[in-house]
Amino acid sequence: MVTPQAPQFGTYRCPVCGHRDGAELHPGHGPGRISCSYCGSALEISATDPGSHGFVTQLAQVPAHG
Ligand SMILES: [Zn+2]
Repeated sequence: MVTPQAPQFGTYRCPVCGHRDGAELHPGHGPGRISCSYCGSALEISATDPGSHGFVTQLAQVPAHG
């Protein structure tokens, strides 16, 4: 049996505009893909230490078009 892991809630800080907001990360699915709720930049969030409510945030690698 696989026990589903509860999503982890925390806050991220957008590296583009500096906006802070809440997000959730689903363990076991790799980095979370979100969009900044302020400027819309594609971001990746990764969990830090257990007990920390902040995420490591970085710009998502967006494939170039053409
Ligand atoms: Zn932003």
